[in-house]
Amino acid sequence: MDKKTLRDVDVKGKKVLVRVDFNVPVGKSGDITDDSRIRASLPTISYLLQNGAAIILVSHFGRPKGKVAPEFSLAPMAAQLAKLLSRPVPIAPSVVGSDAKNMAAALKPGELLMLENVRFHPGEEMNDPGLAKDLSSLADVFVNDAFGAAHRAHSSTAGVAAYLPAVAGLLMEKEITSLGSLISNPERPFVTILGGAKVADKLPVLTNLVHKVDALLIGGGVAQTFLAANGIHMGASPIEGDMMDDARKVLEVSRTRGIHLELPVDVIAADAFSETAHTQVVRRGDVPEGWLVLDIGPQTTARFIEHIKKARTVFWNGPLGVFEMAPFRAGTDAVAQALADSPAMTVVGGGDSLAALEQAGVASRIKYLSTGGGASLEFLEGRELPGVAALADRRQCSARARE
Ligand code: ADP
Ligand code: MG
Repeated sequence: MDKKTLRDVDVKGKKVLVRVDFNVPVGKSGDITDDSRIRASLPTISYLLQNGAAIILVSHFGRPKGKVAPEFSLAPMAAQLAKLLSRPVPIAPSVVGSDAKNMAAALKPGELLMLENVRFHPGEEMNDPGLAKDLSSLADVFVNDAFGAAHRAHSSTAGVAAYLPAVAGLLMEKEITSLGSLISNPERPFVTILGGAKVADKLPVLTNLVHKVDALLIGGGVAQTFLAANGIHMGASPIEGDMMDDARKVLEVSRTRGIHLELPVDVIAADAFSETAHTQVVRRGDVPEGWLVLDIGPQTTARFIEHIKKARTVFWNGPLGVFEMAPFRAGTDAVAQALADSPAMTVVGGGDSLAALEQAGVASRIKYLSTGGGASLEFLEGRELPGVAALADRRQCSARARE
């Protein structure tokens, strides 16, 4: 990786501002339903505590839109972290201001503090330099471990790096190297599986990855627009007409490159978007009038699995059917199982995709689960993420050292 990490700076006796991504899913009563993102920050936090730093954690949660909103408090996340670390994690009532300042100033090596939701401050999403400066005044070093927020140029993800030595945390490093190896030097064959609801969300990543992969397997709602672009009638399935030209371009590149492109050959059609709908397995051109396609069919699933078996690298984003409803989860489950059984480097990203792996009971058998969501996709689109770009370059430093 060409960015400096926390191992490249001396943190002993320093106050370290750590941007984490504690934007975790919560249930109706506000309880945390999945603490993976909090757990994923533990290596960085433990490293810093063991190396004599004092930690000031900063994160966003939800979209409070620059106003204090108790339902978006980070108190439950601080409590969960305290449980995981078996030590207290006090929370400063605001991001900046005298309480945060005093609490940060009083921190001793080996202690930690969490700031309240940074999006309570109107400056955060505007990347306000004033807020960035105030945040930086709390610490000596900035560690960005919030890969999931790195695609945003906000005060706490990018702006603050202008005022402090800024390095990557261990999760950030792992995300960049794991996802980076997919687009720079994947072991081949490299297979990408793409599903999910909307082509518009996936087109940029498809457009980049079609140049890198040996096989591209497309399922989910996304496949319907691709099939329609090939002139196939898809019943009442929603088709994104404005995406058809771009879809055809992806198909064209896959032909020119001579890669395997798999679209569903059979599908599960339903007479309603419902768990209790009537369903049938049909060939892809035979979707009955008024019926919706809600999963890939068994033949398609088998073809996808053949590609997965031959692969040495697999990236998967987007469920292949409406996996939240039992009649439409078979394709997603079978592919999840195939990935779990594969000796290949398997990488999965996306909130719903991770939920699908959990539902299939195979999450722990996937080699790398990206915590990134939108950031993972933007990274794989080949874009430079503002939160990554803002970190100190390793090359610059070694060039300076050589002088
Ligand atoms: P991720 O969060 O992993 O990036 P997406 O959010 O892009 O995934 O897509 C997940 C959603 O796509 C799920 O809610 C799933 O029900 C939906 N989906 C998958 N296949 C279909 C389909 N054939 N028709 C409608 N929705 C679908
Ligand atoms: Mg999603």
